[in-house]
Amino acid sequence: MIVDSFGRIHDYLRISLTDNCNFRCFYCMPEENYDFSPASRLLQKDEIIQLATLFVAEGVKKIRLTGGEPLVRKDAAEIIKALGMLPIELTLTTNGTRIQEMLPVLLSAGIKHINISLDTLQAEKFMMITRRDAFHQVKSNIELLLSQQMKVKVNVVLMKGLNDNEILDFIAWTKEIPVQVRFIEFMPFAGNHWTSNKVCSLQEILDIISPHHTIQPITASLHDTAKHYSIPGHKGSFAIISTMTAPFCSSCNRMRLTADGKLKNCLFSRTETDLLTALRAGEDVLSLIKASIQAKEKELGGQLNKNFEHLNAETIINRSMISIGG
Ligand code: SAM
Ligand code: SF4
Repeated sequence: MIVDSFGRIHDYLRISLTDNCNFRCFYCMPEENYDFSPASRLLQKDEIIQLATLFVAEGVKKIRLTGGEPLVRKDAAEIIKALGMLPIELTLTTNGTRIQEMLPVLLSAGIKHINISLDTLQAEKFMMITRRDAFHQVKSNIELLLSQQMKVKVNVVLMKGLNDNEILDFIAWTKEIPVQVRFIEFMPFAGNHWTSNKVCSLQEILDIISPHHTIQPITASLHDTAKHYSIPGHKGSFAIISTMTAPFCSSCNRMRLTADGKLKNCLFSRTETDLLTALRAGEDVLSLIKASIQAKEKELGGQLNKNFEHLNAETIINRSMISIGG
């Protein structure tokens, strides 16, 4: 079992398959001098499976594949098939562009839940955010997944002045479409020009929705990062991930393995532990994993606090989101 010094059991691993992506979302990927890691510096397929197997033997019950865009990795299908053999819940977070090609693999690996990122319901704005013309592809892939009885959560990073005027449109979308829309408070990472006045908070989101709809809170499960709500008569639902204004660190069970084989014990951790080098040198990787989790800070990597209005993002020591694996 992997436990930290606050008694939190860590049984959920997020593995980034790549720091490469076919999108260029400005809030995720730094504009300046971003180089994708060469393949030789990434965890190889067998190394991913070896490490995942070790984590599972230590009690990990759920693995989420992420990135960068996990489905642009050339051997993604083989990795998914191999991880699908482990006794875990396997899932992934994707920008949704490659679902049509990967669907048979996802289904045969037993994947039942997928998170897809879609920050706007407007094709032109989508192009502006991602710098790619893929809005209709992503929308139709969401429908494709729903037609296969897959549970779909749609991640919407809200930024004031960009897409906060679409909150009610997303809610209207859930009337007929059985997706869970997850509004995510904009978070600061290296190179993403975060400022506190761009954060649309949990309370502000609820204040926009509540004059128009009856909002019913749904009890969350223990490790849930989202606060869930339903609206009577809607086939879908919505949730809010309030990392900035109401974090959920007290029940955190997450560990993150970056595409270059570093273990991060928190999304906002300053430090990381190099598992890949240790693995290649035949060293005791499990001790490194346990030490890393023991050293986990109580809240937000010890770098942020709920007073986000006064946060100077430049003082945070961390990677960009695309190179962590969100
Ligand atoms: N490429 C995949 C995708 O877009 O879903 C997976 C990787 S992406 C880094 C994972 C999630 O992180 C996405 O839902 C994305 O919107 C979210 N994300 C990226 N940067 C963020 C930020 N600065 N604040 C909040 N969420 C962010
Ligand atoms: Fe790529 Fe996902 Fe980051 Fe957008 S949010 S740049 S799709 S990794």
